Amino acid sequence: MDCIFCKIVSKDIPAEILYENESVLVFKDLNPVAPIHFLAITKEHISCTNDINSKNKHLIGEIFEVISLICKKKDIPTEYRIVNNCGAKAGQTVPHIHFHILGGRELSWPPG
Ligand code: AMP
Ligand code: ZN
Repeated sequence: MDCIFCKIVSKDIPAEILYENESVLVFKDLNPVAPIHFLAITKEHISCTNDINSKNKHLIGEIFEVISLICKKKDIPTEYRIVNNCGAKAGQTVPHIHFHILGGRELSWPPG
């Protein structure tokens, strides 16, 4: 499958990896929009939240546990935003489920 994030998982494309376990990978976003901007993904290819089901839903819980662990580390502020874009109109450009973790500056609301 021609998926950028699957290629990062398989190490065919380099990324600045912050954390990795059996099912979750966390790496820095290539084009950060905040001083802190990293992505948490499932290693298994799930296209978007519409493809979460009873078989893979545990992976989403694992992602959030990892985010919590990482953000409790000293260098990551405890105030941050988690963003998931599902579908092109919502801003999804990479069709492999991912959660943006944004921090290090004031974040406005509502998003654009
Ligand atoms: P989205 O627009 O929600 O699908 O987010 C995709 C994100 O992936 C964007 O913030 C991109 O900057 C980021 N991105 C795309 N390619 C790479 C890559 N090779 N390494 C790291 N981040 C990437
Ligand atoms: Zn993929």
